[in-house]
Amino acid sequence: MIDWNERITPHFTRRELGSPDTGEVRYAAGFLDSLEALRVDVDLAMAVTSGCRSPAYNQRLVDDPRYQASPTSLHMFSNPKWGIDACAVDVACTDPMVRHALISAATARGFSVGVHPRFLHLDDRTTFAGLPAAIFLYSSRISR
Ligand SMILES: [Zn+2]
Repeated sequence: MIDWNERITPHFTRRELGSPDTGEVRYAAGFLDSLEALRVDVDLAMAVTSGCRSPAYNQRLVDDPRYQASPTSLHMFSNPKWGIDACAVDVACTDPMVRHALISAATARGFSVGVHPRFLHLDDRTTFAGLPAAIFLYSSRISR
């Protein structure tokens, strides 16, 4: 039985970080340390609404038109394109000042940021996939 309340880092639980189908927590080495350090930097609540995804779970989102998730999402572990485990989370965020604080602290730590009206996507594509850092926007009809 999966203990969804298990604390994986000092501030984040398996419910937040684990794949919703299996509860597995599989991130690129060092990513969760960076996320935890970011949480300490901002000293604000960070509710993770989407953490790592198994390939099967990610495929479910890809197949669901409500999400338009990427088949090579950085949320996915055993990622066939990048050969890495997950290096992305989404954090609930609707407050403009909290959004500024989170984006400032995240970019200072090298994270890339996707801005959605209801959440921020945070990933470390530069460290783990060798991609240039970016800030991108979601259209409001895309949930994640
Ligand atoms: Zn995301």
